[in-house]
Amino acid sequence: MVGLSREELAAEMAAIGAQPFRARQLWHWIYNRGVRDFAAMTSLAKTFRSELAERYVVGRPETARALVSSDGTRKWLLRFADGQEVECVHIPEEDRGTLCVSSQVGCTLTCKFCHTGTQRLVRNLSTAEIVGQVMLARDALGEWPSPQDDRQLTNVVLMGMGEPLFNYDNVAKALKIVMDHEGLSLSRRKITLSTAGVVPMIERCGRELGVNLAISLHAVSDELRDTLVPLNKKYAIAELLEACRNYPGSSNARRITFEYVMLRGVNDSPAEARELVRLLQGIPAKVNLIPFNPWPGAPFERSTAAAIKLFSDIVNAAGYSSPVRTPRGEDIMAACGQLKSESVKRRKGAAAAEEAAAPPA
Ligand code: SAH
Repeated sequence: MVGLSREELAAEMAAIGAQPFRARQLWHWIYNRGVRDFAAMTSLAKTFRSELAERYVVGRPETARALVSSDGTRKWLLRFADGQEVECVHIPEEDRGTLCVSSQVGCTLTCKFCHTGTQRLVRNLSTAEIVGQVMLARDALGEWPSPQDDRQLTNVVLMGMGEPLFNYDNVAKALKIVMDHEGLSLSRRKITLSTAGVVPMIERCGRELGVNLAISLHAVSDELRDTLVPLNKKYAIAELLEACRNYPGSSNARRITFEYVMLRGVNDSPAEARELVRLLQGIPAKVNLIPFNPWPGAPFERSTAAAIKLFSDIVNAAGYSSPVRTPRGEDIMAACGQLKSESVKRRKGAAAAEEAAAPPA
């Protein structure tokens, strides 16, 4: 049942002859209370509960691995029914807790510094698989029923594996479920969608979902951005920034975030910081400086602390907030996609060993 919209759930109930208010009760049990077992849905008649149990399940993704960092960051490797895996991360901070959600298995963008970009197999996640990440995190954090205050899961960012605007329909449907006031109830102001710059989808995202926008910029010239983020060859910087200028609902109170991964000697000079300031003129913006998370075989190194500080000071002096993101979860493989790659390798190894051990047919 997870992943059905309210309307679909109502239609489902109508089809089995249940009264319309049953759909609303079910919604509450599933998304506000987090109940998976129909037998525990005590406001429903017993016979109806067993009828539901015969026909439906309230599912969750399977947890293939769950890791906790010494800094409190949690990382889950989730496995879906077809065996495909994605990562999902919870990052606790003093005043909030952010869940980083994946939108695709793998990614087609091949950004040069991103480990997920090296993985070949790609498919879109379904609505259920996206909502399921939030529900699984709620299970693990013990946050049912949906708490009003003191939540450990306060924010959701679509910054995991995949490009959310290449899977817009499922992402949009999932976010509508996540934002529903009678369910998981996360405000659109606490949700950020991050894109490498799928320009034609940006306006629609703002208009239909009203969530915060983050742009993975990473370079200030098309020449460099063409190599770091190949999608730039399709939608160049000027076009991307124009879409940001027109993003529905952005204001000084709701700024667009520009992510900028700090790569030593590649994009981290003071001149580039000044050019960034020039490009952002007129856009309600803030800049997230992300020290590069290294992975084995990566063709880059993290910028020095001094270079990051200088870059941040220049952007900050121009009036843009430019926090440096502290690397989190480094002891549990911080670069998104590493855990999955390791798992794929392991499973291949196990399959080969099994084959070798099997008697010839
Ligand atoms: N496809 C979307 C969302 C996924 S990437 C997008 O491009 O925005 C989420 C963020 O992590 C992006 O800003 C991405 O550039 C950044 N990122 C990816 N690999 C990284 C690494 N190894 N170190 C630091 N940041 C990285």
